[in-house]
Amino acid sequence: MREGGGPDGSAGDGDELSERLKKYQGRAATVGGVGRDLVNAPMIRHWCEAMGDTNPAYEGPDAVAPPTMLQAWTMSGLSGHADRPGRSGTYDELFGLLDGAGYTSVVATDCEQEYLCPLRPGDEITFDSMIESVSGRKTTKLGTGYFVTTRMDIRAGGELAGTHRFRILKYAPAHRSPKSTQTAPGSSGSARTKSAETKSRRPRPVINRDNAGFWEGVGRHRLLIQRCTACGTLRFPWLPGCGACGCPDWDTVESGGEGTVYSYVVMHHPPFPAFGPPYAVALVELAEGVRIVSNVVGVPYDEVRIGMPVRLEFRCYDEDLELPVFRAAAFAGRSGEGS
Ligand code: ZN
Repeated sequence: MREGGGPDGSAGDGDELSERLKKYQGRAATVGGVGRDLVNAPMIRHWCEAMGDTNPAYEGPDAVAPPTMLQAWTMSGLSGHADRPGRSGTYDELFGLLDGAGYTSVVATDCEQEYLCPLRPGDEITFDSMIESVSGRKTTKLGTGYFVTTRMDIRAGGELAGTHRFRILKYAPAHRSPKSTQTAPGSSGSARTKSAETKSRRPRPVINRDNAGFWEGVGRHRLLIQRCTACGTLRFPWLPGCGACGCPDWDTVESGGEGTVYSYVVMHHPPFPAFGPPYAVALVELAEGVRIVSNVVGVPYDEVRIGMPVRLEFRCYDEDLELPVFRAAAFAGRSGEGS
């Protein structure tokens, strides 16, 4: 497609582009970055509340920060895009090179962290990052592209406290059949336009060994909640282990189907052909106590409210997709509709 081998592999074998990308390995992406805030108790408290982490090590006069907050101390914030001291142009340059070769989409794939010493309120954070590796050209289900791994070293008072590796796939979306409209995050406008021209279907759920039981339940019109067989804690969505006690063993309980809207957002943007904004996405709290993200149906999107009682039903979206949704009890029988 272009020199260096396009994402469709039509011109060359991609070697020239690979060679150019490899030259970015080991180059600095951020030098002498400084955390916007000292490690501090309010951020730790908000984090713990959001995560539901009640570990006493994160409270009181001898508190430490949760290790998994490592990256949080380096973030530049919503207003920080134009002002990132220490940020070199290397990362942007690399992205520009990939964009220019047609690898215009990006998805974060994974991150790894290593903790060397605990962070405590008052610690001043500094960090450096480098492009650790760029893979050869890989073909994935999303499309063909390159994995870029960035390594960040995070220091407190000048001492190395931990490392954070962050990997993305920069790719060209796979060619899709006209029937398929699974649009990957960040995919190009042209892919969207193409799928909008055809009848749009909802994205398929990603079913794996950890959540297969949930989808089997949906197939039988049962909303199954995992229950830890050691401590009895219910959990949803499905996970391989218990967040309360760590036990990997579980059975299930079936939801009775009653719930209330715990929170919701109304989506206006970005447009997605399968959904048709505006529509309400709700976090429904089931009577059993766990919460599920779903749609509220049978009510106009702008009349969904926190605390609204809802009841489970299963809705068929196309010939092979049925999903649990929640009908607003107060609006039963009305024709108003949220998708
Ligand atoms: Zn448990």
